[in-house]
Amino acid sequence: MNISHIEHLGIAVKSLEQAIPYYEEILGLKCYSVEEVADQKVKTAFFKVGQTKIELLEPTSPESTIAKFIEKRGEGVHHVAFAVDSVQKSLDEVAAKGVQLIDKAPRGGAEGLNIAFLHPKSTIGVLTEFCENPQQ
Ligand code: ZN
Repeated sequence: MNISHIEHLGIAVKSLEQAIPYYEEILGLKCYSVEEVADQKVKTAFFKVGQTKIELLEPTSPESTIAKFIEKRGEGVHHVAFAVDSVQKSLDEVAAKGVQLIDKAPRGGAEGLNIAFLHPKSTIGVLTEFCENPQQ
């Protein structure tokens, strides 16, 4: 497996409308994209911080995993996403080492990336995502 950098940090928020001004007006970052990911029942907003992005996640339904996360743990850091050259190979590699997977195969995420999640039970409490840009 080859992790090149942290692709993004996912942060759960109740409201993009309330959260975006903090990142723009206080931190001086620019929101360059707002996108709804229907199958994950979230609306996302992206900011670039060097090579890494911040992905704000607002639930669009009470059944969203983000809604459940906020209910249980409050707003805050939700996951860390590592950029890898192949999501499938990385999943196979960690699964062979006994890591529990949420996704056994890559699926489509925001920004046209292929993504998959590892189970936080196997990752010392941090929900971990692998991302691969199929354009690269
Ligand atoms: Zn993510």
